[in-house]
Amino acid sequence: MPDSVPDSGALAGREPRFADLTTMRVGGLPARLLSPATEQELVDATLTAWGSGDEWMLLGGGSNTVVSDDGFDGTVIRVLTRGVTVLDAVAADATAGAAEAADAVAAERVRLRVQAGEPWDDLVAHTVERGWSGLEALSGIPGSTGAAPVQNIGAYGQELSDSLLAIDFLDYETGVRRRIEAAELELGYRTSVLKQGLRGLVLAVELELHDTQAEASVLGGALSRPVAYPQLAGALGVQVGDRVPLGALRASVLALRGAKGMVLDPGDPDTHSAGSFFTNPIVSLAFSRTMPDAAPRWPLGDAELPDRVIPLDEYYGVGPVADPSPVRLVKLSAAWLIENSGISRGFRLPGSRAAISSKHTLALTNTGGATADEIGQLARFVQGRVQSEFGVILQPEPMLVGLGL
Ligand SMILES: Cc1cc2nc3c(=O)[nH]c(=O)nc-3n(C[C@H](O)[C@H](O)[C@H](O)COP(=O)(O)OP(=O)(O)OC[C@H]3O[C@@H](n4cnc5c(N)ncnc54)[C@H](O)[C@@H]3O)c2cc1C
Repeated sequence: MPDSVPDSGALAGREPRFADLTTMRVGGLPARLLSPATEQELVDATLTAWGSGDEWMLLGGGSNTVVSDDGFDGTVIRVLTRGVTVLDAVAADATAGAAEAADAVAAERVRLRVQAGEPWDDLVAHTVERGWSGLEALSGIPGSTGAAPVQNIGAYGQELSDSLLAIDFLDYETGVRRRIEAAELELGYRTSVLKQGLRGLVLAVELELHDTQAEASVLGGALSRPVAYPQLAGALGVQVGDRVPLGALRASVLALRGAKGMVLDPGDPDTHSAGSFFTNPIVSLAFSRTMPDAAPRWPLGDAELPDRVIPLDEYYGVGPVADPSPVRLVKLSAAWLIENSGISRGFRLPGSRAAISSKHTLALTNTGGATADEIGQLARFVQGRVQSEFGVILQPEPMLVGLGL
């Protein structure tokens, strides 16, 4: 069962509202709610909903979805399928000699097929227990495995795209089930084709992880992928690039996330959120130079210029001279922009039950009984402050249903 959903006792026989089905705990009733728990039931329910011509939406753990107080006038398919299957184990470099033994064992891989409804963090815990590295820095992210490719989940220097091989996909446009390779999903920072308009159902994901068991027998324990995030390296007392025991890395990530209110914890008043509510803005290098010197920024790789089509009647045998300067992009810190536009942790509008998390400026929280409208008002206020201060329009990270910003 997704981690946001209360048990049936808590619902006391009433119809679940989105406030019961999402981690932000806001939102009205769905017109229809289906909860298929096997792969076949999921396919059947989805095809039936699509065939009806009604509106439809998919829901996993509801940790990246915020729905309006009016609810949703259509069918909600809540994905509850479970299961992890080992497809095969492969030695990626079968030709390695004894001298390369350490590299060879490090190169062993295990491939998994994971059902869409499998809770993500249960999967991470399972892989860490087995000594399979590749997901450990993604510990503690709430939600389902099927939703993970939608925004290419990422944290502490790892992204799903580092381990994703393919998805098993039921395409809404064609009704056809097909395997889509990760390379075709345009996975980027908190985005993919699934977030950008390719509509359909992720039935399962295929992952390739590093099987450290053989290595562990040599080194005395299963090690993580190289630590790629300075704050995490600091917490572990190692350098970026070092490898540490898998379990230690998971524990450290969970502790760091807990301190920021970024795990679901019923004892934490900041827990009712959708995680980061805004993505870090990506702007041109020229625009980033208008930011104050203190604003954190991370240069991204050079973006390719779009192809230019020249109409035949304008083509004289010589192409236009290409602009030699690549488009340089820079990622800014949304948290820094919010804090420096005068909004601090714990901020709330007068009389509102929606607040900025007391631990992390990027999270909008429901402090108890907030409406989706109150969340929307706070989000718009934050956007407005940052825009008027820095000229940047922050974009929401969660899927907003019936809620305009
Ligand atoms: C406390 C907290 C911390 C978080 N930290 C992080 C973080 O560190 N990094 C990060 O990347 N995200 C983070 N998130 C966001 C969220 O956990 C992830 O985006 C997660 O993958 C959402 O999973 P879900 O099942 O809850 O998705 P839902 O909210 O149920 O759905 C999200 C979107 O995916 C679609 N969808 C769901 N299931 C499927 C499916 N099977 N097939 C196709 N589409 C589907 C839905 O229609 C919706 O559009 C955090 C959220 C919270 C609440």
